Amino acid sequence: MPDAELVLRSTRVITPEGTRAASVAVTGGTITALLPYDADVPPGARLEDVGDHVVLPGLVDTHVHVNDPGRTEWEGFRTATRAAAAGGVTTLVDMPLNSLPPTTTVDNLRVKRKTAAGRVHVDVGFWGGALPDNTADLRPLHEAGVFGFKAFLSPSGVEEFPHLDQDALARSMAETASFDGLLVVHAEDPHHLAAAPQRGGPRYADFLASRPRGAEDSAVAHLIDRARRLHARVHVLHLSSSDALPLIAAARAEGVRLTVETCPHYLTLTAEEVPDGAGEFKCCPPIREAANRDLLWQALADGTIDCVVTDHSPSTPDLKTGDFATAWGGISGLQLGLAAVWTEARRRGHTLEDVARWMSARTAALVGLDGRKGAIAPGRDADFAVLAPDETFTVDPAALQHRNPVTAYAGRTLSGVVRSTWLRGERVYADGEFTEPKGRLLTRPA
Ligand SMILES: [Zn+2]
Repeated sequence: MPDAELVLRSTRVITPEGTRAASVAVTGGTITALLPYDADVPPGARLEDVGDHVVLPGLVDTHVHVNDPGRTEWEGFRTATRAAAAGGVTTLVDMPLNSLPPTTTVDNLRVKRKTAAGRVHVDVGFWGGALPDNTADLRPLHEAGVFGFKAFLSPSGVEEFPHLDQDALARSMAETASFDGLLVVHAEDPHHLAAAPQRGGPRYADFLASRPRGAEDSAVAHLIDRARRLHARVHVLHLSSSDALPLIAAARAEGVRLTVETCPHYLTLTAEEVPDGAGEFKCCPPIREAANRDLLWQALADGTIDCVVTDHSPSTPDLKTGDFATAWGGISGLQLGLAAVWTEARRRGHTLEDVARWMSARTAALVGLDGRKGAIAPGRDADFAVLAPDETFTVDPAALQHRNPVTAYAGRTLSGVVRSTWLRGERVYADGEFTEPKGRLLTRPA
């Protein structure tokens, strides 16, 4: 056995080749070898035997709104990264909006990084933002290490982050394509939204009718068209409409450089069960019908949807009002994404290997971190989530690490308890306790 500082042993380690009993050797924060379960532990190495608990690669959540600085009453680096660690997430990538400033210039990125430094319990990277008037900032941001650029095709919900019209989208995409950057897009067509009935009020059915599938389908079609012409790398954020799946599958089959994510709330919740007036369920695009959800699962299984991210986007409880038209749109799920997805995945016959692929390997690959993150394999960072997959818990919002005790998962019983979370070979979370912040700020690998 090679030298090691740490040996993590389990009867169920999830590796790219499958699940097996193994001893994972770690030196200097990096996985150095996957050894037989009963391999001798080298002198000086610390053995951590987690028994039958499953060792997953730490999750990589590429869609999180930390809102810090500027809207820290909504969330912040400390609370968000504690929630991440408690949920088995070892890397998150912060969205460029809802913080003040938004991450739309290199100066603003510096402000964000300074705010996060020393306060993060997991590794944190940053998306930049593409606005109608910051095309000239995109390349400098890319060179400064953002992982790509977020754009909206319809109003974002905050005035400092305006959406792109078709001309501005063309301009931004041409620019990101010029340096082979990644454009990640909130795809709802504002014309379709404007044409939909906007009744407002507490009825969920009215809210659902105000954000029809057609708005997503049309926006995705426009994106595919543009990505094809510019040979640009484009990623569809938080896909909810299953009607867009055939378009996406066809575009990918023809070689358009398109990837797609969906979220735990679209996979586990349904419109039919959202109570009227329950603002904690509001997000855009909305949670849709059970039949739509089934098709999203099918698309995950067949690879049309690449990955699952939480789109954790909290606010203070007073903004999650009973009027769906005016309530803040965003689901708080960073700490619960793994358990929520696993609970529904196992019911549908999927495995933890599938979950690891959707929530760690594929998301790491999306942002180019797959040389370091996303797998339990030699050479990768020793980032692990140790899970008791059969243990259940009932979600008590007040017991979560999120800054505000609001979540659409309140009262649900979920399978899968994260017993400990490891970052570069250090146990940063175990059974409700955290170490000092040991996360690092990441930049896009060149
Ligand atoms: Zn988002």
